[in-house]
Amino acid sequence: MKKNGKELLGLTASELAVFMTKLGEKPYRGHQIYHSLYREFQFDLSTMTELPKVLRKKLANNKISIPKLDSKQIASDATEKFLLQLEDGEKIECVLIPEKNRQTLCISTQVGCSLNCQFCLTADIGLKRNLSSAEIVGQVLYVLFHKRLKIKSAGPTLHPKLSNIVFMGMGEPLQNLENVTKSLIILSDPEGMGMSPNKITLSTVGLVPQIKKLAQSPVIPNLAISLSATTNIVRNQIIPINRKYPIEQLLQACNEFPLKARQRITFEYVLIDGVNDSDDDARRLIKLLARIKAKVNLLSLNKGKSGNLKSSSNDRIQCFRRILVEKGVPTYIRRPRGSDIFAACGQLHLARQENIFLALPS
Ligand code: SF4
Repeated sequence: MKKNGKELLGLTASELAVFMTKLGEKPYRGHQIYHSLYREFQFDLSTMTELPKVLRKKLANNKISIPKLDSKQIASDATEKFLLQLEDGEKIECVLIPEKNRQTLCISTQVGCSLNCQFCLTADIGLKRNLSSAEIVGQVLYVLFHKRLKIKSAGPTLHPKLSNIVFMGMGEPLQNLENVTKSLIILSDPEGMGMSPNKITLSTVGLVPQIKKLAQSPVIPNLAISLSATTNIVRNQIIPINRKYPIEQLLQACNEFPLKARQRITFEYVLIDGVNDSDDDARRLIKLLARIKAKVNLLSLNKGKSGNLKSSSNDRIQCFRRILVEKGVPTYIRRPRGSDIFAACGQLHLARQENIFLALPS
């Protein structure tokens, strides 16, 4: 039977306490639900035995909507991509990336995206809608529960750990800032999931006013900027939002973004053959980042999007890196993860993916 009460997932601890007060209950009952949800992974109100039976009955019409698995794929490098179905039937992806000493979960913030970056398959979907805070944290809960993972900072445990969360899946997180902010509060709440904000990274193509708002939010994650060009002429073409917020404005906002002592802003740079990968580009990048505590991640263009964009050669990528490193810019070459199942950066695309899911065993 479809429930039409309140969605309790995605409420902060204090919002849940207020909700219970409005029901005529003590606020601590809200904290009990919060604990059951985010610490015990109990997603069914009727079986939350911490609550008295009469209260469970009273709450029966309310809901906790964890996304459902539609399909799953595992890449040759063990990266796992989950296609999750939401309450209204829309589908989103999240990607679990195992590495030697850590596991990173990449989550989505929108169904599709409106920003039309030229190297990104998600752009082809267009924007269908923003995700709610419930749908954002629901992805994390789904993976934690089904993979039997714990959050690294939540104390000693025999379970494998989820060490990092990155907002780098489908959508531009800063176009959905209100729900992203709320999900950051929930993900990092020591009473709940307890992920350190230092272990959460939000990646944006550079919505300048929203970067300034994020800088004021109660939980400030690491900031990553998808830069991928050193001139406005080139960036206007491959990341069209640059026409509204050109490189100078973007870097000014980065310069003002609050950073802790050893923290740096990550600049992601997708190297595209003959477009943004020249020695001059590398030298311009050094100048652009001169006043910012920055590090650079160089990425190759992943296969997927049709058109005439081609990834730079390995030699060119190495050469580009060398120029940056020689001038003291910490620069890393990131190898693509899960690219054979279209799980790497810029490859998340539902329509195409559904064909792959049909063709491959999950
Ligand atoms: S790169 Fe990010 S902002 Fe650009 S179209 Fe893709 S999802 Fe949207």
